[in-house]
Amino acid sequence: MATPLTADKLLKALRDEGLRVVEHRSWRTHNRNHKGAWGPVNGVMIHHTVSSGTRSSVELCYNGHSTLPGPLCHGVIVKDGSVHLVGNGRANHAGLGDDDVLRAVINESALPADNEANTDGNRHFYGFECVNLGDGKDPWPAAQLLAIEKAAAAVCRAHGWTQRSVIGHKEWQPGKIDPRGFTMDSMRARIAGRLGRRPDGPPPAGPKPPARYEPFPGAAFFATGRRSAVITAMGKRLVAEGCGRYQVGPGPEWTEADRTSYAAWQRKLGYSGGDADGIPGKASWEKLKVPNV
Ligand SMILES: [Zn+2]
Repeated sequence: MATPLTADKLLKALRDEGLRVVEHRSWRTHNRNHKGAWGPVNGVMIHHTVSSGTRSSVELCYNGHSTLPGPLCHGVIVKDGSVHLVGNGRANHAGLGDDDVLRAVINESALPADNEANTDGNRHFYGFECVNLGDGKDPWPAAQLLAIEKAAAAVCRAHGWTQRSVIGHKEWQPGKIDPRGFTMDSMRARIAGRLGRRPDGPPPAGPKPPARYEPFPGAAFFATGRRSAVITAMGKRLVAEGCGRYQVGPGPEWTEADRTSYAAWQRKLGYSGGDADGIPGKASWEKLKVPNV
């Protein structure tokens, strides 16, 4: 049982753990406290957003949508490993879950199966939404996984909890599948290791400004059928570089025209043969400078 951290204490805990933190709009006073209780807090819940793009994902988690008002979590962990704070207080992320799971989190004992939806999770859990399409294919960059480890550890350290106070949404609410792409057991092992050491301390002086460009999402991101605002933004940049090979578009779905256009960009950079196959790589992506979406 614990009293929720104040905004200042949450921010300090995250920074002391070595995280790059961005304070988004009025996050300090943005919450759903008028709809129900916030606290006592008992744990940390990890989610994936089912979205892509830094700016649009952070805005979505701040605002929510017509059927689910924001904030949709406390912090959004984006692909480059920075944490964007969007809420302080009760947030719409956990929904109704299993009272047996809550009891296990409180006792820091083994988790039972989540087979009931009878308990208000938004009262009891901090929530971190992690930008990922949740299709089992969208990669999880190492920087993002490290940030999840650090963010969860920061909250645990501030409350004196162990890694057993950290669960995935899928371990709380029947029918949920998030987070998908790594196991919560592996993440808890990482958090346990981190909690056994001293915190990293704040990142080096002068907070790095938020990235203006989309980080490289990994080559596996560019697969047939993928839809993402990042792909539209990439296509626009390819057109601007004189590499557009589109009959229609560019649009959000990864198509052969995107591949052909990207191959033209690779050739423009001097790549040839298999290095100009139209599948983005990190070096050519960073030179393209795709703006945040
Ligand atoms: Zn979730």
